[in-house]
Amino acid sequence: MSDNIDKRHFDVIIVGGGVTGAGVARDCALRGLSVLLIERGDYCSGASGRNHGLMHSGARYAVTDGESARECIAENMILRHIASHCIEQTDGLFVTLPEDDPGYQATFVDACNAAGIRADVLDPADALQLEPALNPGITGAVRVPDAAIDPFRLTTANLLDANLHGATTLNYHEVTDLIVEQHRVVGVRAIDRRSREQREFRATVTINAAGIWGAQLLQRAGVTLNMFPAKGAMLIFGRRVNKMVINRCRKPSNADILVPDDTVSVIGTTSDRITIDQIDDMRVSADEVDTLLSGSVKLVPSLATTRILRAFAGVRPLVAADDDPSGRSISRGIVCIDHDERDGMAGLITITGGKLMTYRLMAQQATDMACRKLGNDRACETATTPLPGSRREMAPLTLASPHALKSARSRHGDLADEMDLTTGINRVQICECQGVSIGEIEYAVQHFHVRTLGNLRRRTRLGMGVCQGKMCAARAACLMGRLNGDVQAAKDDLAHFLDERWRGIKPVAWGNALREAQLTATIYQGLCGLDMAITRKEGDA
Ligand SMILES: Cc1cc2nc3c(=O)[nH]c(=O)nc-3n(C[C@H](O)[C@H](O)[C@H](O)COP(=O)(O)OP(=O)(O)OC[C@H]3O[C@@H](n4cnc5c(N)ncnc54)[C@H](O)[C@@H]3O)c2cc1C
Repeated sequence: MSDNIDKRHFDVIIVGGGVTGAGVARDCALRGLSVLLIERGDYCSGASGRNHGLMHSGARYAVTDGESARECIAENMILRHIASHCIEQTDGLFVTLPEDDPGYQATFVDACNAAGIRADVLDPADALQLEPALNPGITGAVRVPDAAIDPFRLTTANLLDANLHGATTLNYHEVTDLIVEQHRVVGVRAIDRRSREQREFRATVTINAAGIWGAQLLQRAGVTLNMFPAKGAMLIFGRRVNKMVINRCRKPSNADILVPDDTVSVIGTTSDRITIDQIDDMRVSADEVDTLLSGSVKLVPSLATTRILRAFAGVRPLVAADDDPSGRSISRGIVCIDHDERDGMAGLITITGGKLMTYRLMAQQATDMACRKLGNDRACETATTPLPGSRREMAPLTLASPHALKSARSRHGDLADEMDLTTGINRVQICECQGVSIGEIEYAVQHFHVRTLGNLRRRTRLGMGVCQGKMCAARAACLMGRLNGDVQAAKDDLAHFLDERWRGIKPVAWGNALREAQLTATIYQGLCGLDMAITRKEGDA
């Protein structure tokens, strides 16, 4: 990924480096536009890195929102082709519990059929054969084409391809102003959050892909957007208990989806309206933990005694209709706004709402709109062009294949074949929980814009396993210190990383999770004398 910038005028500037912004950058670049993407933190650090990772079949929305259901199943089929290395094709079960409305299953299956979603009714005994961990009391089950998707990988692959097609991408740059001249947005002012340098960039079209922060961004051009932040919390269990996605067969509610994610399982979510001044406070409360835990145990009883690794939360970028300031008609669909038509502010587009799994369609809609303004008639190719990692046939792995290669392939697809994972020290594992080797880290530093352990975690899953960084963080920090040539920065980064890991553990700090956290603190603070920056304000980015 690039951050060398020798150009100050672009066809398109995109504000926001979540999956939507990354998708827009890729689509614009594939259509030959000159593009600059600006992200204030790390890529994928907003809602795109704080969600459930469910690649919806659309079944969840079939009864309540047929349009979203149809969008989901269409994108589901596209993503299986273009982003296969980001997806685990698990399928999903919608199960009915004794306390659920027994009539809902038939309504659900009819709605799925109407939306074009395959929905096979199973005998509960057959569902239990497929998923032995399920509540043995289930009274119904339906199989649908849900899957698990890795949002970090998906965002990285989009950014990588955007860069390969000439896009410039900057992280840790915050857009502080939209530059307005005669009712037209002509560019942005941004601050480099590391050097504090102010920078100005100009473009014919500026696209707001800043998620829930988009309303604040628009205010800088005097434009109002009625956003309704909805916080959702989730719990990560310390091992993978389910092979398939498990959903409750009822109207969408709290804690009714359990998604398998690599070596762990994730239960979610809650949904609570919060105020705009709370959108950067991602602490998970005891009530949220209780709600999630009680919901998960109903689906899979063994979760009552399974260790919880951490809790985390994100904010959905929901938009209410312009004529409904109360928010009663909040849309969960895609919102693509031409601010010239809506507000008389030329050169400005907003793309928001939607879902992780509809990011490509959202990007297509925003890029189509930008192309109309720029007089570019190149067709969108993102529905048929695979992403880096999902492009090439890979030579089959054998028993003799190095573990580092097997592990890297599971994360990076065909990109793993470009990594040096076999020579010398490169095959040595730094993170045993996730199987991340030195060769993979070196590749990530060179190609995925990795400077910190947090960047490395988002690109490789390092530190996301059972030990939550206890064993790998120090080794990874040493390696980063060597690669970046700054040992003190690596030490500070290590403290920051461990502090961030602790924040997710704190809401679930009992039993083995607490014991492990105490061991981590003893090793790093007691033995190594590391100042773990525990005085930093909670909720800091
Ligand atoms: C709890 C929860 C669970 C979810 N589960 C699922 C799921 O299972 N499946 C699914 O499909 N969808 C799911 N979603 C929805 C999905 O996560 C979001 O729709 C999607 O990630 C939004 O992506 P985005 O890029 O539009 O926004 P974001 O990822 O929030 O990106 C916006 C980016 O803009 C940046 N930014 C903000 N202001 C500025 C500025 N001034 N300058 C520069 N950059 C700025 C932010 O730092 C951020 O990185 C879930 C959402 C939540 C909250």
